[in-house]
Amino acid sequence: MKQKLAGIEQAAAAAAKNVSSEADLQQERSRFLGRKGELTAIMKGMGQLTAEERPVVGALANEVKVRLEALFSDRQEELRLEGLERQLLTEQLDVTLPGRRFRKGYKHPIVKITEEVTEIFSALGFGVAEGPEVEKDFYNFEALNIPKDHPARDMQDTFYISDEIVLRTHTSPVQIRTMLEQAPPVRVIAPGTVYRRDSDLTHSPMFHQIEGFLVDHKVTFGDLKGILTTFIDECFGKGTEVRFRPSFFPFTEPSAEVDIACVICGGSGCRVCKQSGWLEILGSGMIDPEVFKAVGYDPDVYSGFAFGMGLERIAMLKYGVNDLRLFFENDLRFLRQF
Ligand SMILES: [Zn+2]
Repeated sequence: MKQKLAGIEQAAAAAAKNVSSEADLQQERSRFLGRKGELTAIMKGMGQLTAEERPVVGALANEVKVRLEALFSDRQEELRLEGLERQLLTEQLDVTLPGRRFRKGYKHPIVKITEEVTEIFSALGFGVAEGPEVEKDFYNFEALNIPKDHPARDMQDTFYISDEIVLRTHTSPVQIRTMLEQAPPVRVIAPGTVYRRDSDLTHSPMFHQIEGFLVDHKVTFGDLKGILTTFIDECFGKGTEVRFRPSFFPFTEPSAEVDIACVICGGSGCRVCKQSGWLEILGSGMIDPEVFKAVGYDPDVYSGFAFGMGLERIAMLKYGVNDLRLFFENDLRFLRQF
């Protein structure tokens, strides 16, 4: 019986040493120490021993049991640590590997130019106003002194939603909405999206404008020139040559288009400026008394000026972009350059 116990102890120790996982060890443990295990069987069979043998074998069997319990629990701890070690090794971070780079976002050039222009006019005391893109005919045309038969209303130019509702063709309706809400003095710019039925190399059916106007007592064309020249200096660089050219708009009188010396050739003439040396960048003028009447301002008391420019055009000239469509294609290779 002693030999048998010694054999069991040896076999259990060897088995515990041979296993390589905690699960396998658990299995071996129950093979020897479980309810149906080999050692348990011997302890259960002690009734068949003689009265002298029983306490001796019982004590021996207990000692073996205690030793085996300790052996299995030591081995279990060993396996647990080995497993941990393995896990740490396989999940180890290689700090010499190149890191993953986060993709940086970039501002769209139209957003960028809108912010730049807005900032320049903010510094000159202009507030920012916004209006709806789906607009009433009254705000988009009628109040701006554009009667029903004006060419700007031609079906070619305007997206009509109904007879009285249009997609705004310019940001000027914001001027009307602001003046209807506020008494002078007002000094506001209105950047936004506008729509026209036009699509070719230099026209997009959706584009962006910024509108600005100022109304107060005794505002003159000189004030208009001062503000716009300051803007051009800030936007295109100090000393940029500016030219005011007489023009016509239904909502301003007198009206002027504003040119700057070609930013590509400096005025000597190139393909971009069509050899003229000048680039048109915005339209402007003194607000027509008819517009004042439509919003309830007294034209004998107040005067003011307004101006509007296409932001795509300003961005093209400022950033040297030669194709309008690039702004709308959202090609990342293009956008990342800003
Ligand atoms: Zn030029």
